[in-house]
Amino acid sequence: MSEGGDLVARSVEARRQAAAPAATSMRDGFGRSIDYLRISVTDKCNLRCVYCMPLAGLEWLRRDELLSYEEIAQVVTVMAGMGLRRIRLTGGEPLVRRDLPALVRLLAAVPGIEDIALSTNAVLLEDMADELRAAGVGRLNISLDSLQPARVDALARRPGSYDRIMHGIAAAERAGFEPIKINCVVMRGRNDDELADFAERTRERPWHIRFIEVMPVAGSLEISAREFVSALEMLERLRGIGELEPVAGPPGNGPATYFRLPGAAGTVGVITPMSHNYCDRCNRMRLTADGRLRPCLFGDLHTPLRDPLRAGEPLEPLIRRTLEIKPERHWLVQGAASGSGGLVALSQVGG
Ligand code: SAM
Ligand code: SF4
Repeated sequence: MSEGGDLVARSVEARRQAAAPAATSMRDGFGRSIDYLRISVTDKCNLRCVYCMPLAGLEWLRRDELLSYEEIAQVVTVMAGMGLRRIRLTGGEPLVRRDLPALVRLLAAVPGIEDIALSTNAVLLEDMADELRAAGVGRLNISLDSLQPARVDALARRPGSYDRIMHGIAAAERAGFEPIKINCVVMRGRNDDELADFAERTRERPWHIRFIEVMPVAGSLEISAREFVSALEMLERLRGIGELEPVAGPPGNGPATYFRLPGAAGTVGVITPMSHNYCDRCNRMRLTADGRLRPCLFGDLHTPLRDPLRAGEPLEPLIRRTLEIKPERHWLVQGAASGSGGLVALSQVGG
């Protein structure tokens, strides 16, 4: 095993040892315990990140196609009765959906739900951080692909993004969100020269920066084929600035492996969907904005819940069936559309 591979293996072990014993939960056909649901509340977004959403946007869902907040809470209530414990709200950009704190309040009141997290680009966070925290959001993941203002605006293809994101992060810190995880999709020639700059930030700030390998969907094929940087390469390059100690990382439900620079307040981590498939540890399902329950981020398997829900049919058998068809792993191939299940962008399913 390469030194980088060994680092990843040691960090996975550190996480395993720190993990709490599994609560009662749903099991899939491979015996994996599923207690985590990522809920996409909208397919729309106020940014156009180069690896995610086409500049012209996508064909948006109609309003009546979206699950209402009450319908989302109904799905969560049924799943919580089956063992669901943790939720992440995502999108698209979840903060563009009107009055998101109202949904958080509904979900926080569902018996059994212990943890509500939010993934956001932070553009609208400044004015909402306090209310989201009061409503019951416990943890935040914020996407930030560069520390350079002009670059952030260029990668997001929306001028002014950098300033608004930074104000959003500051507001989140003031509101008491901890930990704050920063997601950075690494692309060769666009931002891979900033790995060390990001890591240096963690010496002073308690940020947990997670470098993500770009994943191939139809809208990111070129970037996936030409600009892919593996996590092993990222770690090799990070070792140039100091010794990396494998650590358990901040609380959460995700697949990142974490490291700390000596004496640093925060951590750096890598998320390796391509180079180190972590599907054997998968603990989640996904609910799309139009109410399809997906057992895997990729592939085209899903169970429509919206129409049965509106028809008053029981959801539990449909949820059980979706657990049964959860695939053993994803079949993504770097630079190829096969395996993504016809997705144009992760925003369509809640990345
Ligand atoms: N809008 C929110 C945000 O950006 O955090 C939530 C939705 S976004 C689809 C969720 C995460 O998916 C972000 O961290 C984003 O960087 C990541 N993402 C989107 N497309 C990706 C791709 N092709 N490869 C890797 N990560 C991707
Ligand atoms: Fe929007 Fe998030 Fe996709 Fe960027 S990654 S375009 S912020 S949904």
